[in-house]
Amino acid sequence: MSKKTIKDIQIEDKTILVRVDFNVPLKDGQISDDNRIVAAIPTIKYLLDNNAKVVLCSHLGKIKNEEDKEKNNLKVVVPRLSELLGVEVKFSNEVVGESASNLIKGLKRGEVLLLQNTRFEPGESKNDPDLASKLSEGIDVFVNDAFGSSHRKHASTYGVVEVLKGEGKESAIGFLVEKEVKALNRCVEAKIKPFVAVLGGAKVSDKIKVIDGLLEKADKLIIGGAMSYTFLKALGYEIGKSRVEEDQIEYAKNCLDKAKGKIILPIDHIIADDFQNPTKINVSMDQNINEEYLGVDIGPRTINYFKEELNGSKMVFWNGPMGVFEVDNFANGTKEIAKAIGSLENAFSVIGGGDSAAASKKFGFSELFSHISTGGGASLEMIENDGHLPGIDIIEDKQGEHNED
Ligand code: ADP
Ligand code: MG
Repeated sequence: MSKKTIKDIQIEDKTILVRVDFNVPLKDGQISDDNRIVAAIPTIKYLLDNNAKVVLCSHLGKIKNEEDKEKNNLKVVVPRLSELLGVEVKFSNEVVGESASNLIKGLKRGEVLLLQNTRFEPGESKNDPDLASKLSEGIDVFVNDAFGSSHRKHASTYGVVEVLKGEGKESAIGFLVEKEVKALNRCVEAKIKPFVAVLGGAKVSDKIKVIDGLLEKADKLIIGGAMSYTFLKALGYEIGKSRVEEDQIEYAKNCLDKAKGKIILPIDHIIADDFQNPTKINVSMDQNINEEYLGVDIGPRTINYFKEELNGSKMVFWNGPMGVFEVDNFANGTKEIAKAIGSLENAFSVIGGGDSAAASKKFGFSELFSHISTGGGASLEMIENDGHLPGIDIIEDKQGEHNED
């Protein structure tokens, strides 16, 4: 069953609370990448064009103390958001409370108010019912357009929807969530074959559940990046000083047994004596890495091998860089594999990871991909949980519809 979208609801004159994902990266107090703000614009514009009163809420960063609050004041988003919308965005210094309530009440149609960082409220991450009910005050409709937060069962993604539902009020997903769900559901359903998953990045333990899920759905699982050393070690290869998770070796062995040849691993590596200040950089002879070195990227023979394995695939899900792509000397594997995935003919290609998305942008390949998810954690959990995320499940289903297209 598909979810109600903003096209299915009455908008005019309604006060609509939109959960957006404005969890943007900050550098020296400035927004260093505005992707997530840009991604939320179509929904907000549509609501404003249709005469709604729009209240936006989002978290930003992790909040443990007062210093974190200073660093993660959501007001930082207002100028860029106003510019993109062409409307002056009002800001409430409080998430909930009297002044926030008054600002909401004072909204006119076509106006937008952004609430302070939801994580300034300790009840947010605990899905506190009291906070949820305060967030629902003065609100007629809830819209989830925060794909990147939809795997969280928090007051602003989940609790508030329950409260509003209890009051007989409507909820819907926005255009961004609709687009994300459509794209990622193709990977969940895995009907387009051959389906190849490419995994990389730093930690096996972060991605255990998705490896299980992908082993069932994908025809092949290509593993590069630091993750691959744990798998190679499980097979008995020498991996030198490379990053490895000893406690995941048993798990890696089980995966390799279960995979029956579906897991494709590097056959050579770029190796260095140090990540930050390497004095020696080399290419390994084979899978093994000499004890003086650590693996920092996939090697040239691996690049060709992975490209051959990708050849002819019709759907690819990519999560995790093939090497330490932030360092120019160790970026080639990620660059070449990103280009190879993006250049597949008539293939549906999805990036589902923050660093992988940043890598594709850095190399100028973003346009080559069918879909780049705004939520790394959420896209992985969606695949793990067979298409389910709490923040999306809680939204009302479309009426009179029994089949998904
Ligand atoms: P994503 O955000 O796309 O899901 P991850 O967060 O899992 O990706 O991993 C990204 C990180 O993995 C990058 O910072 C990259 O430097 C690191 N990485 C990749 N290969 C290696 C390696 N061989 N050794 C150490 N770190 C690596
Ligand atoms: Mg990451």
